[in-house]
Amino acid sequence: MTDNLSAEKRFLDIEENLKEINYRIAEAAVKSGRRREEIRLMAVTKTVEPMYINHALRNGVNLIGENKVQELLSKLDFISPADVEKHLIGHLQSNKVRKVMDAVQMIESVDSLTLAAEISRQAVARGRDMDVLLEVNIGMETSKTGLRTDALNETAAAISSLPGIRIVGLMAVPPMTDDEKLQRRYFSEARRLFEDLGMLHSERVRPQILSLGMSADYEAAILEGSNLVRIGSALFGERRY
Ligand SMILES: *Cc1c(COP(=O)(O)O)cnc(C)c1O
Repeated sequence: MTDNLSAEKRFLDIEENLKEINYRIAEAAVKSGRRREEIRLMAVTKTVEPMYINHALRNGVNLIGENKVQELLSKLDFISPADVEKHLIGHLQSNKVRKVMDAVQMIESVDSLTLAAEISRQAVARGRDMDVLLEVNIGMETSKTGLRTDALNETAAAISSLPGIRIVGLMAVPPMTDDEKLQRRYFSEARRLFEDLGMLHSERVRPQILSLGMSADYEAAILEGSNLVRIGSALFGERRY
């Protein structure tokens, strides 16, 4: 049973956190010569119970991101409004594509041609297009998924010949560091790769979304051109697994 008092407290925390995040996004947007409305906030909801997710949705959040297909599906019946935009942001195995296709508007974590080919197949079978971001492994970390930076253009070109799938941008999770200079260097590298994608001049490659920045580094990401920040713990509190 949920303790009413602590739930109440957590609701208030979420409201406070949201105000603070929105304020900081607005500040960083202005510093980067843009308006607040040009930066999208995603609430990252892994490990968060639907009652708290819904509280964020009542307070202006209009996009949520989940890492795992199973967790996303298990929450779907409890999310309100049910039609809120949802993105998958975690590593996806090809054999789970079928399950997630109807649950999300975007897959931000496309990291192989094999995965893209399965998304294409499933999209064609449904007579729809699926929007995706390519995930790039900016720090070339062996512990992380994501396309190698030097394979990005080639993979994007190959994916662009597949029906039913549209590359609408790039997502990255750079190495963890407190060094803001280094954070910004990684983000600017992602920005450069994002701009390069546009050079492919393909109808199926329309880079518009640069998904960069999490709780610890979203301002640095915005300063380097991010227009979608994915925020979990700064909004909902530390995750308890
Ligand atoms: C968990 C996660 C986030 C959010 O992380 P926080 O540091 O809690 O904001 C963003 N993006 C991805 C891909 C994640 O897995």
